[in-house]
Amino acid sequence: MQTPTANLTFSTVYGPVNSWRYGRSLGLDPIGRVSTCSFDCIYCQLGAIENHTAKRDIYIPTEQILMELQHCAPWDVDMITLSGSGEPTLAANLEEIIEEVKKLTHRPILVLTNGTMLGESEVSRALGQCDRISVKLDGFATDTLRRVNRPVTGYDFNKIWQGILKFRQEYLGKFSIQTMVLTPWPKESLETYIELMRSLSPDEIQLNAPTRPKPIKRQLDGRGNHSSSERRPYETKQLKCVSPEIFEQIAGEIRDRTEIPVKYKSENKR
Ligand code: SF4
Repeated sequence: MQTPTANLTFSTVYGPVNSWRYGRSLGLDPIGRVSTCSFDCIYCQLGAIENHTAKRDIYIPTEQILMELQHCAPWDVDMITLSGSGEPTLAANLEEIIEEVKKLTHRPILVLTNGTMLGESEVSRALGQCDRISVKLDGFATDTLRRVNRPVTGYDFNKIWQGILKFRQEYLGKFSIQTMVLTPWPKESLETYIELMRSLSPDEIQLNAPTRPKPIKRQLDGRGNHSSSERRPYETKQLKCVSPEIFEQIAGEIRDRTEIPVKYKSENKR
């Protein structure tokens, strides 16, 4: 694990951000100053992941999150979103956080997750209490997963997919899949994706493009809301995006053949 990024003012609560998917959303970060994730995605807005791990731990005490959240009352937002500085399901106190935040704010809770931990019973029990969950699915084959999401050792597509499927069968809230489209999809990839979505049957599919520049090193403000044209005081890298026409074609075909609502973002909206 690397040394925590120095000289950053850290709060577990950030935003609110206006999201094209979730409305006005207040962010909660149960991970903290050191970015910690079981993936290290090539487009991650946090920069290179500092603590690449699948170890569940208490990264931020629940009391600290509640104390900082109390300062934001009356929580005039559509949603409270657990995401932040990495993979929120690595927080071993996730269930307690969700329970207590619900009691305090009476707001709907959304968790954004990369899906690696969904096969763990403690994680699925905790997530079962939130109103909405959005699961990342970019690498729907082991080689793409390795290339794009770069999971920690021991996680391949089959293991992650079995966890997602099992969770989906039990979950009663709104379940979305979010997929980053990095290149035009060959026909076989589109066919595979459509088959997977038919068997999973999410309530919604969200397609994204990497419109925001990726910081080279860890940046705490990667949790926030930037436009792609906004200048940053640190080094970034802009990834190529597929054209809006190709995006519409992929989204349209998925929508027509699965009958699942597809939202997509090929431009700069968060
Ligand atoms: S799963 Fe999310 S937090 Fe983790 S590396 Fe990918 S984009 Fe970053």
